[in-house]
Amino acid sequence: MIKEIYQVLGISAEVYAYGAAIEKELSERFLQFDRTAEYNQLKVLLAMQKNRVSEECFGSSSGYGYNDYGRETLEKVYADTFHTEACLVRPQITCGTHALAIAMFGNLRPGDEILAPAGKPYDTLEEVIGIRPSAGSLAEYGVTYRQVDLLPDGSFDYENIRKAIRPNTRLVEIQRSKGYQTRPSFSVAQIGELIRFVKEIKPDVICMVDNCYGEFVGTIEPSDVGADMTVGSLIKNPGGGLAPIGGYIAGTKACVENAAHRMTCPGLGSEVGATLGVNRSFFQGFFLAPMITKGALKGAVFAANVFERLGFPVIPNGKEQRNDIIQAITFNEPAKMTAFCKGIQHAAPVDSYVDPEPWDMPGYDSPVIMAAGAFIQGSSIELSADGPMKPPYAAYFQGGLTYEHAKLGVLKALQYMLDENLLKAADLLRS
Ligand SMILES: *Cc1c(COP(=O)(O)O)cnc(C)c1O
Repeated sequence: MIKEIYQVLGISAEVYAYGAAIEKELSERFLQFDRTAEYNQLKVLLAMQKNRVSEECFGSSSGYGYNDYGRETLEKVYADTFHTEACLVRPQITCGTHALAIAMFGNLRPGDEILAPAGKPYDTLEEVIGIRPSAGSLAEYGVTYRQVDLLPDGSFDYENIRKAIRPNTRLVEIQRSKGYQTRPSFSVAQIGELIRFVKEIKPDVICMVDNCYGEFVGTIEPSDVGADMTVGSLIKNPGGGLAPIGGYIAGTKACVENAAHRMTCPGLGSEVGATLGVNRSFFQGFFLAPMITKGALKGAVFAANVFERLGFPVIPNGKEQRNDIIQAITFNEPAKMTAFCKGIQHAAPVDSYVDPEPWDMPGYDSPVIMAAGAFIQGSSIELSADGPMKPPYAAYFQGGLTYEHAKLGVLKALQYMLDENLLKAADLLRS
């Protein structure tokens, strides 16, 4: 029966069998993800119980949004989950880039320097920092930037990081996930080691970790290993697919307050900000987030194994430890990348009938192709695939509110590549 419904969905018997064989080999791996999710589910539950989440928390505020009980409780739940003094969790934070931007703008002053000790930050931060000249960037406010690239083997270049730390180094930016790069994502332990090194040299430096896509992948977060600010988007892991917008900054009270003064304005800080009815989705999404992240992880590992065996370079590889939910697959040819994205799109619950096209996106320096049929626009905890249309034509696959949906997406992508003669059915048998 299951084969038949796959067939109705356009998956041939060969593709189905190929996927089923791979899935079978992954059962032990999947069990590990179940255990991590179980731990994280309990961690979130504990934080909710400790803070006495109640029906009253699901109320809505309007106007200034003073004394929004749900918002205040939610921020405590986040802070307790991340083991931080404070957390800002708001619908006024429009996306991950915005959260990272206010974290930096709020905590930096003219003359300060940002150091990226683990290579270039995420593409959209180039304009926030002013690495690419941009109106309103930190560079325009007299904040300078320095970067130390990773060594060829992907490890931190400690010798040059030491040299790059100056008297005015104020904030260190570390991106956990690979983003649109083909380097590996860092483990929380690796990030902890880097933070310890930096703080030994200059204890007052603020360590900020871009935690996008990393939440609940493991049992600890960057905030558990010394990060002063851990920052992310609610339309990724911690929103659990239900948050319709938002971002968070978990960290020290001082850092979070500084960020709040930039999110609203000096003097008002976190005291204002109506929640307009999103509290329930924020709570419920955060409650589900460990489980949703687990499904996405299983989908990513399935995708890695499906395409690795067909000879495509994949990062991480099919067996490596996971530090985020992103799966990079390198196609080397635009046609293969487009066919892959088409498959993901056509597997979606929303907009399954449209074809994705490469397009210029604000914040990105080349056209980007994006496949997403999401309930929430641009939500990449929902099944999505995207990537810049430039060599090496690497697509970044992530999300899936359920593993079953992610699996269909992968099979559908493979099916398109076969149907469009970009792969041969014999390749499936050979691998
Ligand atoms: C998604 C993401 C961001 C922020 O992107 P938005 O699209 O603004 O939410 C930042 N860093 C990384 C690594 C990301 O994956």
